[in-house]
Amino acid sequence: SSDEKRAMAEIHELLAKLYHHCLLHTKQGRPALEYLENRGFTRESIERFQIGFAPDSWETASQFLQKRGLDLNTAEKAGLIGKRQSDGKPYDRFRNRVMFPIWDRTGTVVAFGGRVLDGKDEPKYLNSPESKIFHKGKTLYGLNLSRAEMRQKQHAVIFEGYVDTIAAFRAGVTNGVATLGTSLTDDHAAILRRNVQSVTICYDSDRAGVEAAFRASEILTKQGCTVKISQMPDGMDPDDYISKFGSESFLKDIIGASLTVMAFKIQYYRRGKNLRDEGERMIYIEEIIKEIARLPKAVERDHYLRQIASEFNLSLEALKQQQTQTFKQLQ
Ligand code: ATP
Ligand code: MN
Ligand code: MN
Ligand code: MN
Repeated sequence: SSDEKRAMAEIHELLAKLYHHCLLHTKQGRPALEYLENRGFTRESIERFQIGFAPDSWETASQFLQKRGLDLNTAEKAGLIGKRQSDGKPYDRFRNRVMFPIWDRTGTVVAFGGRVLDGKDEPKYLNSPESKIFHKGKTLYGLNLSRAEMRQKQHAVIFEGYVDTIAAFRAGVTNGVATLGTSLTDDHAAILRRNVQSVTICYDSDRAGVEAAFRASEILTKQGCTVKISQMPDGMDPDDYISKFGSESFLKDIIGASLTVMAFKIQYYRRGKNLRDEGERMIYIEEIIKEIARLPKAVERDHYLRQIASEFNLSLEALKQQQTQTFKQLQ
């Protein structure tokens, strides 16, 4: 019911304030604050993103809510509170974690992401489960803060994680959002398309990130967005890059140098191949033709086929034939 949704949202709003207070103004919060400072978080970004800390305790949140007369069953449904199996006693699910509030499009806190401090505990990130007010396939982290800028620029940047979004914001990318531990969905893409014409995907530079970027680019293209992909040195994510090379380089050499999807794929399939070797060259050409066959526009297909024909001194006729064959196989 809408009453329950309202109660759930109120609980999240109050806990976000509690966690934020614990981070900034309590002794228990010191190690978390130091952790964040060591990772380059500024006071300004801690405030803007309302970052907090859930103390290492089983009952901070549950007692806080109980004292205010809030319904623990509602908190349980939102995954904030658990109930002990033996006697039903409530306990906090988020303990000893840095807390990132997740907002809906109106700026109401509807969920949390909690990160361990030391990296020894598992899982590294504990995120709120789906609930009546939190649908992760429809939620873009940071959208409430970046929407105005996005619309003005008609351009958005998408990241994998909270930390990347926040680091990039600090570096000057104020039109960024993240999908939260889930692949980009049609709903995400539709939300972006309603706000902007073009999107740059800036995922982690590992295999998983690149594959996710390819899938996301298809979904975004289908929704009518113009898509580019950024690339960072192998194994890095945007936050790593900004910490190591600074904001200016991130804006210029990463975001500013992002490539069209096809240009990105061309250089991606080239990596680690010796194109002077006939076998490797043939594998490369086949991979690229497979990508070309999937392009929706005939003009684009023609453009890239000609590019390959001239680079490898092949006949356009043969490439076209192979592309048609590949296209049929893909159907
Ligand atoms: P950090 O820099 O703090 O290690 P990250 O943002 O680089 O974090 P990744 O491991 O690259 O984190 O994961 C990207 C995003 O995926 C996270 O921000 C988080 O939303 C989500 N995620 C990662 N691990 C998990 C997990 N174990 N459970 C749920 N979500 C996760
Ligand atoms: Mn990753
Ligand atoms: Mn990462
Ligand atoms: Mn990271």
